[in-house]
Amino acid sequence: MAQIHELSEILSDQIAAGEVVERPASVVKELVENAVDAGSDRIDILLEEAGLKSIRVIDNGQGINSDEVQIAFRRHATSKISSREDLFKVATLGFRGEALPSIASIADVVLTTSTGSGVGQKVHYRGGDLVDQNETSIRQGTDVLVTDLFFNTPARLKYLKSVQTELSKITDIVNRIALSYPDISFSLNHDGRELLRTTGRGDLLQVISNIYGVQNARKMEHIQGQNVDFEVEGYISLPELTRASRNYISVLLNGRYIKNYAISKAIISGYGSKLMVGRYPMAVINIKMDPLLVDVNVHPTKQEVRISQEPSLTNLISKSIYDQLAQENLIPDAIQNL
Ligand code: ADP
Ligand code: MG
Repeated sequence: MAQIHELSEILSDQIAAGEVVERPASVVKELVENAVDAGSDRIDILLEEAGLKSIRVIDNGQGINSDEVQIAFRRHATSKISSREDLFKVATLGFRGEALPSIASIADVVLTTSTGSGVGQKVHYRGGDLVDQNETSIRQGTDVLVTDLFFNTPARLKYLKSVQTELSKITDIVNRIALSYPDISFSLNHDGRELLRTTGRGDLLQVISNIYGVQNARKMEHIQGQNVDFEVEGYISLPELTRASRNYISVLLNGRYIKNYAISKAIISGYGSKLMVGRYPMAVINIKMDPLLVDVNVHPTKQEVRISQEPSLTNLISKSIYDQLAQENLIPDAIQNL
């Protein structure tokens, strides 16, 4: 038997990358989440060949201090939490300090950043190695360019699907993040074509219209409700507007897009018998709750979370939808100016 030894940092980063970076859409998700956490109000995403050739995310957020740029690429290095208590009330999308080192270990990454004072920094990593770092002048914000994704992990490269499939995974995640942050102006550009642009004016219905089209947005009703633990607010489609899958339901918890079967089911059950069998509504539901009552540290991608008092939440959601749809024939359509 060989002797027990610690793995090199590069190798352990590559292992962690296996969990965090499954495909180009995971890179886009992590970079855009970092841009959101940096307080940006404008985020531009540029792709070539569904990210297989390149992924670039440009933000106007707070930037990274010159002397911290290399630290940001170390594993478990984060500015977002520092104590055990913080872990129980995470208020940012990131906190595990894994994305940058993971991505840099399996791709070519050039990150340019400036905090707006002094000169900016440009740093280049490839396969986990620092290639070089220079001073550069850019306006405040961060610009990350990822190319050659999975160049040193052939199994992952092989597992990737067609450009069309990878692109649809990317648009899906970008749409959900754009729905979560109507105050941020997002743009998504693929091979020179603009796929999405939101204004950042803070109107959720407008973002729904940008993503799903104005005709669909006109058939959405506003809902809201609250109880001691939860506040819910958002838009649901009228029973006449349905889809063949649940993919048009977005559940956003404290600004994070999550996948939760019980909540999707609660949304559907709020329609009672108004939906045809095999048909699903469109919905965007924002849930606000005390971060202490939700554990986001369940999975590296953070899309699965554990919510305490979940039945109280699912009841609130079903009831808010049921009540709104019961009123629907009595009040005029609230949505006119789209
Ligand atoms: P996490 O997001 O979990 O903290 P990351 O590896 O994604 O871990 O990022 C490490 C750190 O680098 C972040 O905590 C943040 O301080 C900094 N950082 C990354 N991306 C950006 C960005 N776009 N703007 C400002 N700071 C960033
Ligand atoms: Mg992050």
